[in-house]
Amino acid sequence: MELILLGPPGAGKGTQSKLLETRYGVAQISTGDMLRAEVKAGSPLGLEAKGIMAAGGLVADDLIIRMLADRIAQPDCAHGFILDGFPRTVPQAEALDQLLHDTKVDLDAVIELKVDEPMLVERISGRFTCAKCGTGYHDKFKLPHVANTCDKCGSHDFSRRPDDKAETVHARLEAYRADTLPIIPYYQAKGRLFTVDGMADMAEVESQIEAILRQVGVPEPAAV
Ligand code: AMP
Repeated sequence: MELILLGPPGAGKGTQSKLLETRYGVAQISTGDMLRAEVKAGSPLGLEAKGIMAAGGLVADDLIIRMLADRIAQPDCAHGFILDGFPRTVPQAEALDQLLHDTKVDLDAVIELKVDEPMLVERISGRFTCAKCGTGYHDKFKLPHVANTCDKCGSHDFSRRPDDKAETVHARLEAYRADTLPIIPYYQAKGRLFTVDGMADMAEVESQIEAILRQVGVPEPAAV
């Protein structure tokens, strides 16, 4: 399965792509997570990306495309992948087409998660994660069951993304409008675009995505 989840920050791409990764056993690839790992490691790419990410801008296409090309060549992508946060510009979408063409792989679907802007801001500004195991929480929608203790691993250490601050969120939404929205007609013209109501609850969004995957002929995952 080769799938793209498209949508603005806070639309639920990360949550849904991780659910799909578990269910379908294909690699989930978040270019944002990859860049955060580069920043943490202090690599040349991380140093280049750090300021751009903190300001809510987009990292240069050539750097991102190279990073993504290396990633999808890894053995865990042999049975497919779910892209979360890539492509974010038309040149990135074109480069992905070329990569897929070269490896004789077809995109199954591009699924756009639609969420209105006030909801995006509310979702992003309240989110935080366990610093140890990465489990996601939210000040309003999903607090840990025991205050300040991760439900999954018991850690008391939590972190918030620096670019989830209100002023940066607006810059990220502007980057989405200016650079990423033009991808929608690009995939529409290829007959690959599907839209899901991302305002619905998590389970409903998941079942809408699975219905699309069935419609495009992705085999049902084996029952667990
Ligand atoms: P995300 O975790 O997807 O919200 O990405 C966090 C930040 O990483 C973005 O605001 C961008 O600065 C950068 N980034 C992630 N993916 C891309 C991409 N495909 N192209 C350019 N910049 C990206």
